[in-house]
Amino acid sequence: MTSKPEGRLSPGDRSPEFRRVLAENERYTEAFDRSALTASPLRGLAIVACMDARLDVEEALGLRTGDAHIIRNAGGIVTEDVIRSLIISQHLLGTDEIVVIAHTGCGLIDADEAALRERLTRETGQPYDIAFGSFHDLAASVRSSIGRLRAHPWLRPGPIHGLIFEVSTGRLHEVADG
Ligand code: ZN
Repeated sequence: MTSKPEGRLSPGDRSPEFRRVLAENERYTEAFDRSALTASPLRGLAIVACMDARLDVEEALGLRTGDAHIIRNAGGIVTEDVIRSLIISQHLLGTDEIVVIAHTGCGLIDADEAALRERLTRETGQPYDIAFGSFHDLAASVRSSIGRLRAHPWLRPGPIHGLIFEVSTGRLHEVADG
């Protein structure tokens, strides 16, 4: 991971990028027509995906505002917090189908967790015990996520699909059960 070339921002900074975001939102509200949507996703879908900036979940899956819950984190891995969100998604907001999406070129593939922990401990002078969720095999990682979801007593026994997004073509490949 590299920092942006123009240097670091201070906590109180309103960067040009943040100001652009606010201006863009002004324009968004002028044409906003989604106020009639309810919180329950129209398509009954909950998606767990990596946060990778190259993966536009809505565009890649043809989803619109209001269609699905999209839960994202580094690696698109099933953490306790993802399970927490899925329980709310299913039992309070009525979703019944889950799609897990990983992608080629993910920064967590074969990431050296120990080296990252050591580097950050050295740079900050503070040790911090955290697992980053690195993995070796994309498809195996998706299958393991699905297994974890299927085994959870509070998640519905509905369909759970695994997909791998190919960053070079935009194509989604289904991960076969294994
Ligand atoms: Zn990723």
